[in-house]
Amino acid sequence: MHVFKKNSNIFHLLAESVAEGILVVNQELNIVSVNRHTLTLFNYKEEELLGKPLTQILPEKNEQVYKTFIAAKPVERQHFINNGIQTQVGLTKSGIEIPIDISFNSFNLSDRHYFLALIFDLSEKRKRLTDLQINTTAMDSALNGITISDTLKEDNPIIYANKSFEKITGYSQKEILHRNCRFLQNDDTHQLGIEEMRSAIHKGQSCRVVLRNYKKNGQMFWNEISLSPIKNEDGVLTHFVAIQNDITKRIITEQRNRQLIRIFNESDNEIYVFDGQTLRYKNVNFGARKNTGYSLKNFMKMSPLDLEPAFTERQFRNLLAPILKSAGKKIEYESSHQRKNGSTYPVEVHLQSTKVGEQCLISAVVFDVTDKKEYTQKLEKTVSERTRQLKSALLKEKELNDLKSKFLAMVSHEFKTPLSSILTSATLVGKYTNSDTQNKREKHLNTIVSGVHHLTGILNDFLSMERLEKGDDLYKFTDFSLSKVINEVLYNANMMLKTGQRINYPMNIEDVSICQDEKIVELTLTNLLNNAIKYSPERTEIDLLVTVTKHTATFDVVDRGLGIPEEDKKHIFERYFRAANILTTQGTGIGLYIIKSHIQHLGGQVTFISKQNKGSTFTVVLPIEEAFCEDRG
Ligand code: ADP
Repeated sequence: MHVFKKNSNIFHLLAESVAEGILVVNQELNIVSVNRHTLTLFNYKEEELLGKPLTQILPEKNEQVYKTFIAAKPVERQHFINNGIQTQVGLTKSGIEIPIDISFNSFNLSDRHYFLALIFDLSEKRKRLTDLQINTTAMDSALNGITISDTLKEDNPIIYANKSFEKITGYSQKEILHRNCRFLQNDDTHQLGIEEMRSAIHKGQSCRVVLRNYKKNGQMFWNEISLSPIKNEDGVLTHFVAIQNDITKRIITEQRNRQLIRIFNESDNEIYVFDGQTLRYKNVNFGARKNTGYSLKNFMKMSPLDLEPAFTERQFRNLLAPILKSAGKKIEYESSHQRKNGSTYPVEVHLQSTKVGEQCLISAVVFDVTDKKEYTQKLEKTVSERTRQLKSALLKEKELNDLKSKFLAMVSHEFKTPLSSILTSATLVGKYTNSDTQNKREKHLNTIVSGVHHLTGILNDFLSMERLEKGDDLYKFTDFSLSKVINEVLYNANMMLKTGQRINYPMNIEDVSICQDEKIVELTLTNLLNNAIKYSPERTEIDLLVTVTKHTATFDVVDRGLGIPEEDKKHIFERYFRAANILTTQGTGIGLYIIKSHIQHLGGQVTFISKQNKGSTFTVVLPIEEAFCEDRG
């Protein structure tokens, strides 16, 4: 500031303090004064520029300034000054061209005319502009939503919102700009974060809150907002920058994780995590500690082998091998856990591996299946019991069916012979019309009567068996005269007798009454006598003996007939059984079976002794206690 030093200190101060370059040239356009900023801009020392032509720093290349100012006449220069000059090229000492804005003003001093040039360094401005562009582009391409609110205007309107903010919220620039950002709140205004944010804005402080915000389509999202205040040089709050992040996914994941952690900790089922290599437990949940009795501290020194002593380490590692190979694979097995107190319980174990960095962790979910086992066992027992019952019912049903079909086959066979002899006799009776053929008529009539008895016997047996099979309790106890029943039985039996056969019947039963089921007594004696007749040859005797004591009535039927072969004796009371020696004689094989069943039901006994070709004795003992009889009251 050579020329002006003595004239104005104020000017000097001003020139040195402004941020722009100041340069003074005389009428000849030689530099007479420069400020420090100009020297810095063009990289000269003061003495290197003073006295030098203006073209030293403003080359001829600047055609406009050259033609209209440097090469112009003074009057024209004046005109030019009024218009000002825009961007030009400046030349530094080292020959580098720099963009500058330069404007000239003229003034007079001590009758001399001077020009004051104000020089603006455009390279700096451009850089700032570029920086700003970079920043704006960066802000626009940021994944976070960014808004800037102007706090100097009423209600702090948003003056900038980047693309991500549009994307996150679904609102367009037009809908966002000039509004307070509270429009993201909808009606959901009672949130702690909002209060916190309001207070931070009020105090001009930064804050970070998470709010429930709403997109244009009404969908809620968790917005994590970082608010930073911007203040001017005087410390006045001018703007707030808000960086916004849609963290809904993160929150949901966190919630899920929290839930998982809760499940892990609170589950009654046992959950263990152990290292796939060292087998050491890394963590166990509450259920595991409760069920086993070990503390977490205990567990940290243990491995699954301590809980499942049935495994050797080798076996256990073999078991783990497949899940260690491929993470995410699962295996299940049943085992037994040993508690701290030594007791054991059955468990179902589910194992799965997870890779955490280099570490392979195995999670084990363990179910105590004691109840399930007991229930299953109970169920199995019930099922097998039911199956057994069903099988036996089916068997019974089958037996009954067999029995019926066998019986039908047998009955039709057994009925054939008596029916045909009845038919023959009836036909013949019709032919004997004269009185001298009375004998023959009687013989045939006897045959008919005996045939009918025989059939009645079979039918009685059948009905009796039916009664037995049904299990109907049809016994009826009455007082009855023994001789009356025996006479009836003998009367019928006599009709069946073969030639020369005779039944010796008891004489000691007159006036003897017993209390029993009369029908069963009749059925029993009829059957036994019929057998004795059937299985004895002609001209043999049959005895019927009766012994009555206070509590029993005993009946013996003695014959002198074919007897029963030794090997058949044990089967004689079985249904349909017929001994090998009598197969040519008619019969059904159910008579003795029926007798035995009835007599056993009544608390009595039937036995026999027999010798082949000598004869048989069948003995029936029946209880006749007073208590049995309903009629006696
Ligand atoms: P059925 O006489 O109709 O064949 P039962 O059940 O009355 O049937 O008798 C079964 C079997 O016992 C007879 O087939 C016979 O082999 C044998 N049996 C029964 N009573 C006598 C008897 N008094 N003498 C020899 N065998 C007999």
